[in-house]
Amino acid sequence: MYFFENRFMPKNEVAVSPDDRGYYFGDGIYEVFRVYNGRLFEAEAHFERLVRSAEGIRIELPFSKEEIHSILNKLIDMNHISEGTVYMQVTRGAAPRVHPFPAGAKPVLMAYCNEVKRPLQTMRQGIAAVTMEDIRWLRCDLKTLNLLGNVLAKQHALDQGADDVILHRSGTVTECSASNFFIVREGKLLTHPANHLILHGITRMVTLRLAHEFGIPVLEEPFAVQDLRLADEAFITGTTAEITPVVRIDGKPVKDGVPGPITKRLQDAFEQAIQWSEADDRKTYIKSAID
Ligand SMILES: *Cc1c(COP(=O)(O)O)cnc(C)c1O
Repeated sequence: MYFFENRFMPKNEVAVSPDDRGYYFGDGIYEVFRVYNGRLFEAEAHFERLVRSAEGIRIELPFSKEEIHSILNKLIDMNHISEGTVYMQVTRGAAPRVHPFPAGAKPVLMAYCNEVKRPLQTMRQGIAAVTMEDIRWLRCDLKTLNLLGNVLAKQHALDQGADDVILHRSGTVTECSASNFFIVREGKLLTHPANHLILHGITRMVTLRLAHEFGIPVLEEPFAVQDLRLADEAFITGTTAEITPVVRIDGKPVKDGVPGPITKRLQDAFEQAIQWSEADDRKTYIKSAID
């Protein structure tokens, strides 16, 4: 089952208008949530980002955060998703094609979920990445439907026989096609600061929180493509990738070409965080059932 406009329906009943501005302009925003054990992971952080993205492109969400939360929970239940993802987007709505915001258009919510297993094999083995100039616009902090720069980047990686790209702006490393990027150097974690040049990943945030808990020093500072050669470890973070090691960059191994110790430690901690969130959720669930 999908959710479209104002109700749940089977996918084949979803009838998108050819005038939808998502279709003409990529005029909309989206979120991807992880579902572990039938529950949304870090839901509040995702909803806050959704609201920020909507405000950033001046779309009024058709429902409150709380209403969307319950729509998504209902989708998870209706589709019996235990381990998976929820995709949702809001476009500015349907109106004849002109650039200005149309007066009469109503924003359109579409959402669905899928059963998706955790990528255990790539998390264990790591992936290969290639570097590429970041040609995206200057509001990469908004999760908008305009993903051409990301699509072209990902395809470039696959064409080169790699799994993903490491993007850079004139030599400064930003992030990957749909995930954030970290290196480890001399025991310190390095990642691009959360400004307008990268998407502020929830998994990035959780990873930084775990690093702080472990006393691993973190530098949220720009670093250069040349620094990649000096990296002891590298990894990406994202809702579906979780923490995935990068073991080859531009055809050369990162250090020994196997996932490094700090990456593994963070992966273990992340796994615990998933279990904690489930335990937490059960507690509030039980508590609300008692109340
Ligand atoms: C969604 C996304 C990420 C990762 O964010 P998460 O909240 O961790 O899934 C990173 N970069 C880009 C470009 C993204 O679209």
